Amino acid sequence: MSIYKCPHCGKKSFNPWTKAMTGQLNSKGRPCMECGRLCVNGKGATIFKALYCLAAFAVIIYIYIHGADNEWMFTHEAPMVIGLILSMFIVPRVVNAFFFSLAPSIRIDTKE
Ligand SMILES: [Zn+2]
Repeated sequence: MSIYKCPHCGKKSFNPWTKAMTGQLNSKGRPCMECGRLCVNGKGATIFKALYCLAAFAVIIYIYIHGADNEWMFTHEAPMVIGLILSMFIVPRVVNAFFFSLAPSIRIDTKE
């Protein structure tokens, strides 16, 4: 089963790029190009993102606490933190592009 299939109509209407740009379960979702109904990245992607953000956040705290331990940490603290924060936005999108299946959006749309 392709992960780029629309959960509503079953057509392969997503590609890695559009899937990456599609939000998680708690977002509004992206309309399928075939049937126009909203799709989101499913439970697996949502859990992965939550865990990844938690892990990255833990590392940021760790870096922050140990930021003045030695000269290397002191000079690399800011770029590491910035990199981690950026990765919180980038990594889940990259993972969404290639893993986890799509799910129907559960958010109630005013149009329906
Ligand atoms: Zn569809």
